[in-house]
Amino acid sequence: MKLIKINSFFYKNNFSKNIKQKKSPIKCKKGNIFTGLTTLIVFSFILTSIILLNFTISSNNINTDASNSNSFNYLIEDYNRNIPISAKEVMKNLSEDTIKNHVPCYNSANMIKDQLQKVLNENNEKYKKNNGVIIESEVLSVYNGKDPYHINVKTLIHGQKGEMEYNNVVESEISIEGLKDPLPFLMCKDYPTLVENGTKISYNDALSHYLAINNLLNPDVYENATASLIIKRCPIDPYEQHGHEFCMKNCIENGYFHESADGSCYLCRLEGKGGCYHYGLEVLILPHKVSTLGDTSISGSDHVIFQDHYPGNSTSIYQADGLYEILILDDSHKAKYGMV
Ligand SMILES: [Zn+2]
Ligand SMILES: [Zn+2]
Repeated sequence: MKLIKINSFFYKNNFSKNIKQKKSPIKCKKGNIFTGLTTLIVFSFILTSIILLNFTISSNNINTDASNSNSFNYLIEDYNRNIPISAKEVMKNLSEDTIKNHVPCYNSANMIKDQLQKVLNENNEKYKKNNGVIIESEVLSVYNGKDPYHINVKTLIHGQKGEMEYNNVVESEISIEGLKDPLPFLMCKDYPTLVENGTKISYNDALSHYLAINNLLNPDVYENATASLIIKRCPIDPYEQHGHEFCMKNCIENGYFHESADGSCYLCRLEGKGGCYHYGLEVLILPHKVSTLGDTSISGSDHVIFQDHYPGNSTSIYQADGLYEILILDDSHKAKYGMV
């Protein structure tokens, strides 16, 4: 458009000069050359200006487009980065509610999914209000991750700002380390005398009561038992090294959890299942200290106490002042942890 207007202006100028030429034929030759040159210079100047202006405008547009696109990409990345953080917060709240109320989740994966969806809906509103980005997201599924210390979430995300668009199914991996183990509180929910202090569980007489009402061997051994509260991956690997001097004592003091094919996964722990068919976790439950060895009771892995119910023998992990710190372990768990 601009170029067309300039051309017509040039045409008009030439036309008027042509008319003038007719009026003064004497100055014709020199005047013509002078006028022609001036016109050419003016025209070249205007043309150069237009080219420069267009170039500046288009390079400005490219810069603005690039920075818009960068900020859009950054916002989407930021949104995606926040999904596992929100999911972990949802799981933390869910486990704490479960522990407080002693009520198992009916379907933990669905509950996490629904609660995360609510958080994302709120986040979508914030992104729209603060950044003018329209984000629609749908939590598709919640499932066990690559190992029992991780849970994955799949989310369908659609983002839009102006002509920029983003469509993707995002898979987020959430570490469950640092979350509380809700299982003991659900297994002992009918006689909930157990307490937690933020790192450990003191069963008081809740676990011995559980053994007694389930007619299990020597409930008294687990009077005042203790166990870890917070999920932490045991770094003593391979597990047979627990049999080395003070390794098991160190593991118990640090409250580590272990991988176990028979132990419950975190999603099933939230549902109050003592065992499940997923690859899961086990934690060892420490009976009260004893002055003599020789007691037998149910083997002290949580899935054995809460689900499988087979017996084991006292195994000393530390001795001081005439008292033994013991675990009750069956042969297969002794072999697993190198305690033979
Ligand atoms: Zn360990
Ligand atoms: Zn499970």
